[in-house]
Amino acid sequence: MRPFSYLRAATAEEAVDAFAARPGAQFLGGGTNLVDLMKLGVTAPEFLIDVSRLPLDSVEATPEGGLHIGATVRNSDLAAHPVVRTRYTALSQALLSGASGQLRNTATTGGNLLQRTRCPYFQDTSKPCNKREPGTGCPARDGVHRDLAVLGHSAHCVATHPSDMAVALAALDATVQVRGAGGERTVPVTDLHRLPGDRPDVDTVLRPGELITGVTLPPRADGGHSGYRKARDRASYAFALASVAATVRVEGGLVRDVSLAFGGLAHRPWRARAAEEVLRGAPATVETYARAADAELAAAQPLRDNGFKVTLARNLTVSVLSDLASRAEEGARPPT
Ligand SMILES: Cc1cc2nc3c(=O)[nH]c(=O)nc-3n(C[C@H](O)[C@H](O)[C@H](O)COP(=O)(O)OP(=O)(O)OC[C@H]3O[C@@H](n4cnc5c(N)ncnc54)[C@H](O)[C@@H]3O)c2cc1C
Ligand code: SF4
Repeated sequence: MRPFSYLRAATAEEAVDAFAARPGAQFLGGGTNLVDLMKLGVTAPEFLIDVSRLPLDSVEATPEGGLHIGATVRNSDLAAHPVVRTRYTALSQALLSGASGQLRNTATTGGNLLQRTRCPYFQDTSKPCNKREPGTGCPARDGVHRDLAVLGHSAHCVATHPSDMAVALAALDATVQVRGAGGERTVPVTDLHRLPGDRPDVDTVLRPGELITGVTLPPRADGGHSGYRKARDRASYAFALASVAATVRVEGGLVRDVSLAFGGLAHRPWRARAAEEVLRGAPATVETYARAADAELAAAQPLRDNGFKVTLARNLTVSVLSDLASRAEEGARPPT
């Protein structure tokens, strides 16, 4: 048992000030990831600043017609929110595909974004790992890597980001609001997580002590649909081998607007901009969707045992886009 101090912060300001005063601190959300990592000895904060009860637990419409989600909104509350279910369906589906009901009741929006990789070597302190202990090596590259990255990895790390929610937020063009000792700033969710490069120990662009205070979703255009599909080893309670979040608007048989993001393939949610280029203005057909997926996945560099993920992501892309486009053409259902 390693001793640590604990503070339950009442305001975001108190949390940020407390962190600034104590290097070695960590914020505690629902604790569903951080506490596990503490038990495993992967991390040993001297000071835990509990931010799970901060008054950031509401989901509110923005004046522009979007949605603001407080950082302490629980994953289950967010998934069940009527506006999220009807207008940001990909987000609700992504949340419901993750973890279990009990975990979602506890996990927070901020904590979900910053959960750490599930690479088995990262969680096993008897093994070297560049992310846990920089400079020790990456045994996953030649070892067990079936679940790990095919896009954007480096010689130093081949881990994937585990969050389903973050993938939907990437496709929905969400932004993240943060507050630190230097003030407040906004980061597009697609820029929040880093690729590993030669610093896999640094997961995000957040500065030490920056607190996530909320996430903002832009308004959704009328006539569009969104969805999330995840492939995993069992039907529930498993992380994504590959996943796809998409929004699409089809008119007159052509793709008018689209966004696409992959999960389970890289160190961060992977916004598929090359695929979007192929899709925009093209006929809404299975051939187009496959061509778009191929354009994005041409950059894939599978490892010895995870080439199947490329095929999986391609098939998921075709399946999600076909489904959303056919719903758009039916025009019978309300936009999601
Ligand atoms: C068995 C199991 C299965 C799971 N399956 C899935 C799955 O399929 N898909 C999926 O997406 N997830 C899955 N999860 C992960 C789960 O979603 C995360 O553990 C959870 O979302 C983390 O949220 P939390 O609030 O508990 O974070 P915490 O554990 O409290 O914190 C996580 C990290 O975020 C930091 N943090 C927390 N809040 C803030 C804040 N406001 N500002 C800045 N930093 C902050 C903490 O310091 C910590 O580094 C699973 C977890 C378990 C245990
Ligand atoms: S893939 Fe990354 S997290 Fe996994 S062992 Fe290598 S360096 Fe560590």
